[in-house]
Amino acid sequence: MTESSTPKVNLVGYSPAQLEDFFESIGEKRFRATQVMKWIHQLGATTFDEMTNISKALRQKLSEVAELREPEVIFEKFSKDGTRKWVIRTEGGSSVEAVLIPDGDRKTLCVSSQIGCSLDCSFCSTGKQGFNRNLTAAEIISQVRIAIRSYGPFDPSGERRVTNVVLMGMGEPLMNFDNVVAAVQLMMEDNAYGLSKRRVTLSTAGVVPALDKLREVTDVSLAISLHAPNDELRDVLVPVNKRYPIKELIAACNRYLDKLNDKRVITVEYTMLAGVNDQPEHARQLVKVLRKLPSKLNLIPFNPFPNSGYDRPSDDAILAFKEIMLKAGIITTVRRTRGDDVDAACGQLVGQVQDRTRRSQKYIPVVQEEPAAEVQRPQ
Ligand code: SAH
Repeated sequence: MTESSTPKVNLVGYSPAQLEDFFESIGEKRFRATQVMKWIHQLGATTFDEMTNISKALRQKLSEVAELREPEVIFEKFSKDGTRKWVIRTEGGSSVEAVLIPDGDRKTLCVSSQIGCSLDCSFCSTGKQGFNRNLTAAEIISQVRIAIRSYGPFDPSGERRVTNVVLMGMGEPLMNFDNVVAAVQLMMEDNAYGLSKRRVTLSTAGVVPALDKLREVTDVSLAISLHAPNDELRDVLVPVNKRYPIKELIAACNRYLDKLNDKRVITVEYTMLAGVNDQPEHARQLVKVLRKLPSKLNLIPFNPFPNSGYDRPSDDAILAFKEIMLKAGIITTVRRTRGDDVDAACGQLVGQVQDRTRRSQKYIPVVQEEPAAEVQRPQ
C-alpha cells in the first residue's frame, strides 16, 4: 500500500491498553505507551517532534503512521459567574460544547459525548437538535486538553486546572460506549490526567444493558437522570424509560454499586419542571424509589430554552420538595444554576448539530453560532 492510502491513526484518543497494543504492532516496546501518553495528556504535545525523550528515528516513524489530531475551538464564552464554555468544531462541520465550572478549589469540566443526542428527553435542548454521530474518543478527551490549555502551556507540576470531569454535556455517554470508556480511562490514568474515580462521573439516562457492561470495564462514578418517580411520567420525560423502566434501572444501579466494593453512592439527577414533577406527591413517590438505592439526590431547577414548553418551579416549590426528601433521610442538594448567561447551564448545550434524524424539524432551532473573532473576554 502506498503511504497516502493508509490513514494515520490518531493517538490522542487511544486508551492506555490501545496505546500499548499500537506500539507492539509497530514493533516497539510497550513502555513507549507511557512516555507518549505523558507527552500527549500531561504536557499537551501536539506534535511528535516535541517528544524529546524519544529517539529521532522513532519520532520520525511515529509521524509516518500516526498523528495527534484534535478538534478546533470556534469560540469561547465567559459567564459573569466564572463559568467558561467552549464551542468546538468536529470533523464533518457540526459543533459540540464543553463547560468549565469553577467553584472554590473545585474546577469541574462538563464534557460532551455525542453530536446531539439520540434519546430525545422532552425537556432537554440538546435532544431537540437531533443527532449526528458519536464523538470519537479523541474528540471527547480533547475537551479536557482544550480546557487545560486555555490556561496557558501545560504544567504538570502546577495547580490542577481541571479537578473533576462530568459526562453531562451533549449526548448519552452509554450510547457511545467504547469511545466514552477509552476517554474515561484516560481521565483516570496516572500517566494521563490522573483524576480519582470519585472525580470522574458518567451521567446516563439509563441504558441498562450498557450499564451492566460498564461495570466490567471501569469503576467510574455514576449519576442517573431519573426526573420522574413513576414510569407513567418517566415514559414521557425520558422516553428510553419505555425500554428500561425505573425498576430495571434501579436494579442495574445496585449491581453497579455492588461491583464497586467501596462506599460510593449514585447521584440521582432530577430536573424540576413546574407542575409536572415538582409536587409533594412526586416527592413522596420518589422517597419510595430511592429507599431502594444508596444514593444522593441532586435537584436541578429546569433551565429554560426557547419553545421548551416547560417552566422552572418557584423557589418555594423546590424547597418544599427538598424538605420532604430530607425529612425522609435522603441526602438532597439543589444544583446552583451556573453559566446560564452564556447558555452553558444544564440542558442548554446545543452546539450546531447537522441532524441526521427528522427530529429537529419539529422544533425551531436555537441559532447561536458566532464568528471566531468575537471571543468574549471577562471585564
Ligand atoms: N444523557 C446523559 C448526559 C446528559 S447530562 C443523561 O441524561 O444523564 C445532562 C443533565 O442535565 C441530565 O440530568 C439532564 O436530564 C439535565 N437536563 C437536561 N435538560 C435540562 C434543562 N433544560 N434544565 C435542567 N436540566 C436539564
